Amino acid sequence: MRGALPVGENLRLWGLRVEANCPFCGEAETPFHLFVKCQFATWIWDHAPFQKHLDPATFTSLQAFIEKAKTHTCLPPCGVNVGPLYPWIIWSIWITRNQRIFNDKRTNPGETLTQAISLAHEWNRSQAPTSLTPQLSQRQLLPQQDPRAVVCHTDAAWIGDLKVAGLGWIFSNCSAGPSNHGSVRVDCIRSSLLAEATAVLFALQTAVRLGFTNLLIASDSKQLIEAISSEIPQMELYGILFDILSLSSSFNQIRFVFVSRKLNSKADALAKLAIHNSVPIPV
Ligand SMILES: [Zn+2]
Repeated sequence: MRGALPVGENLRLWGLRVEANCPFCGEAETPFHLFVKCQFATWIWDHAPFQKHLDPATFTSLQAFIEKAKTHTCLPPCGVNVGPLYPWIIWSIWITRNQRIFNDKRTNPGETLTQAISLAHEWNRSQAPTSLTPQLSQRQLLPQQDPRAVVCHTDAAWIGDLKVAGLGWIFSNCSAGPSNHGSVRVDCIRSSLLAEATAVLFALQTAVRLGFTNLLIASDSKQLIEAISSEIPQMELYGILFDILSLSSSFNQIRFVFVSRKLNSKADALAKLAIHNSVPIPV
């Protein structure tokens, strides 16, 4: 980062390369441009699952940007066992750039971000003393509804313009007292699917805290339930899906099921109230 990277502008200063332009947009290629200001990099920073948006437009140097990036943690849904993401984003941009220049391989910014998140998870897993296995074991996957399972309905309300979500969850078939339901308002949520997944994650965290070991999670998002059941990472859900599956390992038995909106009306009401920052309702 101290002028040592062989980006185009440095090569030109060293008299080594005539072509000194960014392979993504054609502008002069400085490290600051390549990693922060280029539209390719900007897309990635805009979509990275940080708790707070890291806006490349507000920075005037790479050093200032990295100092700020160091303070950015991943979204609560992404936060379980996830270390810093920014070095992996920079690394992945660098790899993508080299592949484009030397191998003429075209990768879009979404793929580069997915690669960065994947590398971050891989790194964290390799650092953890006991590695997490996100896959659910056969023992944990209930073939059918267990009458003893605590049932948890979850739902989310999402306002796209504001990227704000209200999340609600409610436990039944248990004696959790006033803790039998919860709701929260969360900012910086980029899609309704991510909001639904975040609701499930909050519900799981609460269930762990309450000591439940046999759980049935019900959601009216078919897409989410299919994503969890298939355990196939999607870019939009990659980090949070990992967290959901990791946390699921805490339960002796767990099952995720799709339910109709009608059957999910109480969780829906909690989510809608949370988005307006109102007080919890008695259920
Ligand atoms: Zn560029």
